[in-house]
Amino acid sequence: MKKVQHYINGQFIDSECGEFFDNFNPATAELIAKVAQGREPEVDAAVAAAKAALTGEWGQMKLNDRIALMYEIANEMDRRFDDFLEAECLDTGKPYSIARHIDIPRGAANFKVFADTMKSVADEAYRMDTPDGKIAMNYSMRQPKGVIGVISPWNLPLLLMTWKVGPALACGNTVVVKPSQVTPTTTSLLGEVMTKVGLPKGAYNVVQGRGSITGNLLTAHQDIDALTFTGETKTGETIMKACSNGVRDISLELGGKNPAIIFEDCDMDKAIFETARSVFANSGQVCLGTERVYVQRPIFDEFVSRLKDAGQKLKVGVHNDESVDMGPVVSAAHRDKVLEFYDIAKKEGANVILGGGAPKMEGALKDGFWVEPTIWTGLPETATVVKEEVFGPCCHIAPFDTEEEVIKMANDTKYGLASTVFTENLDKAHRVASKIDSGIVWVNSWFLRDLRTPFGGMKGSGIGREGGHHSLEFYTELKNICIKM
Ligand code: NAD
Repeated sequence: MKKVQHYINGQFIDSECGEFFDNFNPATAELIAKVAQGREPEVDAAVAAAKAALTGEWGQMKLNDRIALMYEIANEMDRRFDDFLEAECLDTGKPYSIARHIDIPRGAANFKVFADTMKSVADEAYRMDTPDGKIAMNYSMRQPKGVIGVISPWNLPLLLMTWKVGPALACGNTVVVKPSQVTPTTTSLLGEVMTKVGLPKGAYNVVQGRGSITGNLLTAHQDIDALTFTGETKTGETIMKACSNGVRDISLELGGKNPAIIFEDCDMDKAIFETARSVFANSGQVCLGTERVYVQRPIFDEFVSRLKDAGQKLKVGVHNDESVDMGPVVSAAHRDKVLEFYDIAKKEGANVILGGGAPKMEGALKDGFWVEPTIWTGLPETATVVKEEVFGPCCHIAPFDTEEEVIKMANDTKYGLASTVFTENLDKAHRVASKIDSGIVWVNSWFLRDLRTPFGGMKGSGIGREGGHHSLEFYTELKNICIKM
């Protein structure tokens, strides 16, 4: 049986207590690995290694050498592309067709982009007059923040973990990563990459384990200087409280309940194509995905019928079948949660346009964690599945009449992560985009990501922005030095 271990101070190790937990293939529910359960000794050892590395070989490395090493990491990930692809798809159940184009290349790109960002960082300088008639020069320089705790989710495990590890290392910090307990493998593979390229020991550490145990220990550890987290809003609240102890900085990328606004003057083919992707891609387990669709009344019936067609055409199946569009959801617990939302939607009076349950799968796949692509209409805006994040392949579609009305509906949520607007009227696109309370607005598109742009959520969707030079705000301390001439 495959073992997934911790990676601490450049070594793969089991837990001191010898404890492991099970990891399953979401498509078959088969046991695929035993994962080490990290506890206090492992968290302490990883944080101590990370702290020591700040003043060791890693901390003393010149910027150009660090940048070269970031490129080496990305290149080695590219060389081991197939290993990363198989590990990620087996842990998550997502098809090759998604991970090959998104998760794995983006994982490697996250090291190159932030290496490039560091190459072009300028220090600020301000000259001032002094009271005695002379001058003083101020310059502000960035220095690493220290040991960064990285806690990542299961939906895009490699992509979201490297989105944090890439800039953290590029800025000269060290990291202790705790991946989701259901998708541990690619953090471990990245440990192999770090060993291969000769990253100094202690710069990259991984402690495997459950959030309630390992996650809690990591967030409480006072030698963690700052913590970056992606996951549910409720967990974010817990982490924020833990980090208030010791006044440690946090970056939170949290949940969403993202709206799509479809105006009657849209290009209908484009609106259907992009909305089908944003609802069903990765079995709906994308934080930026759409779960609320608002369609202007004259095109409502046509839109519902065409999105239903698009959902019906999706081929659901196992990750290594190249023709598959959608895999299972990640775990039995998440399948149960999504199916409970499907039941609640029915009880609250939804018209089930598509799906609404679990598909019948055959043979080896019959025990996997499957849910159907699902579309509802007819619910009030107060309904549970219109308010709460389901994180499954589903959406509710509601009609609207005016621009003012739909902006109000779109903003009537505790979240503010992403949104989409479909219209061929340029004025309207700018007007509406400026009035929606979300960190990202896509016009006539979805999931176009330029890694230099600010990424993050408003309201309950998070705190802070990462991406390009915005990541420097979190991963570095800005220090002002004032010299009297
Ligand atoms: P989750 O909050 O359950 O878990 C995320 C991570 O936190 C895991 O590693 C988990 O083990 C850990 N954790 C859980 N409890 C903890 C605790 N008390 N202390 C410390 N760590 C703890 O989230 P999930 O179910 O893995 O991911 C799905 C959620 O993530 C959805 O809400 C989704 O919207 C959100 N998400 C947001 C973004 C974004 O960029 N805003 C991106 C992807 C996913």
